[in-house]
Amino acid sequence: ATPISVMVAVGRAAQSGILIRNGDALQGAGKLSCVVLDKTGTVTEGRPKLSTVAAAEGWTEDTVLQWAASLEAGSEHPLAAAVLAGAQARGVEPLPVNGFAAVVGQGVSGMIEGSAALLGNAALMRQHQVETGPFAEQLQALAGQGQTPVFLAVNRVVAGLISVADPIKADSKDAVARLRAAGIRVLMVTGDNEITAKAIAAQAGIAEVRAQVLPQDKAKVVKTLQDQGEAVGMVGDGINDAPALAQSHVGFAIGTGTDIAIESADVVIMGGSLVKVAEAMELSQATVRNIK
Ligand code: ADP
Ligand code: MG
Repeated sequence: ATPISVMVAVGRAAQSGILIRNGDALQGAGKLSCVVLDKTGTVTEGRPKLSTVAAAEGWTEDTVLQWAASLEAGSEHPLAAAVLAGAQARGVEPLPVNGFAAVVGQGVSGMIEGSAALLGNAALMRQHQVETGPFAEQLQALAGQGQTPVFLAVNRVVAGLISVADPIKADSKDAVARLRAAGIRVLMVTGDNEITAKAIAAQAGIAEVRAQVLPQDKAKVVKTLQDQGEAVGMVGDGINDAPALAQSHVGFAIGTGTDIAIESADVVIMGGSLVKVAEAMELSQATVRNIK
């Protein structure tokens, strides 16, 4: 039987926008030793904006943006929305693309005006032997600020660099501090590159980062921690996060969330506040202590 104190706590949580699926989830949340936070949309606001466009020789900022936007028109990644909005704001019209393909966790590709175009991260460029040296310094500087730079390559020659910024939520730092004060080990996981990930983590006060994790491997990060004896809570918002939410001891879906993320979650946090994850765990810990 569920103790009354647990039912009361579940009701109290619901009043502040923390929907806990059942008594087991509440008690589980009070016993977590470790919390894994997804970066985009969980630690950050999840609405990236275009910040920088840089052109290689023979290109202009507008043509770089035009080709990038053309490729992104076929993508559903949050980055794509930022590039398309940025292009529209500058009055840049996308070109037709043939043979569009999305490379999960790396970027997009397609044929534009008879040329092979690629847009994506350094790993994607390496795979296609694209030399990105001319942008090395800019890449470091932008990533060091926590931005996500991607390259445009045309026929295997780098044509430009585009950077999007997705700042941390106003309450991320607070939330992390409270989790750590409650004795919780906090990690951040992301498909983004190591430099960007570390910069964002530092801004939020997160000491441990797993970067360049492919969407399908986020659940493995959770599993590895569990194999090391951790009771793991996972916090995420996207479709990509569903397997990791399901793998974790207690899965938290945050923000607007997708239907799939919400289905896979034990706790749904309304309104996107990361501090509410800390509140949920504090409440659970207090409840678990009471019924011991
Ligand atoms: P996240 O965990 O931040 O959602 P993903 O695994 O979806 O990251 O993507 C990892 C990286 O791959 C991105 O940071 C970006 O560099 C690159 N990437 C993925 N999709 C795209 C895209 N549509 N356009 C450009 N770059 C992309
Ligand atoms: Mg996400």
